Amino acid sequence: MTDLEPPPTRSGCLTEEEVREVREAGPGEVPDRLARHLVSCVRCQERALFGPEPRRRRRRSGSPALPTPVRALILLAIMIAVLALFFYTLNQFVGDPYR
Ligand SMILES: [Zn+2]
Repeated sequence: MTDLEPPPTRSGCLTEEEVREVREAGPGEVPDRLARHLVSCVRCQERALFGPEPRRRRRRSGSPALPTPVRALILLAIMIAVLALFFYTLNQFVGDPYR
């Protein structure tokens, strides 16, 4: 058995038979050839751990929901109030340069 032998399948991943072989093997009993592929292949690791069905990764569908117009206006009002408070406080410290 050498590193030069052709991969188990056309895509290089383990066949269903080989994945089952990995699953049924005891610790340390997985054949070298299969173990060597498993080390570097996430897809086959998942197949060996979770079964033959490819796991669907949960993806968020689209962008998060936009806030309602009322909430957006409230947020805008809060931002403006905080900004006004900031400039008021700044004016207290620095004073009015045009006075
Ligand atoms: Zn693989």
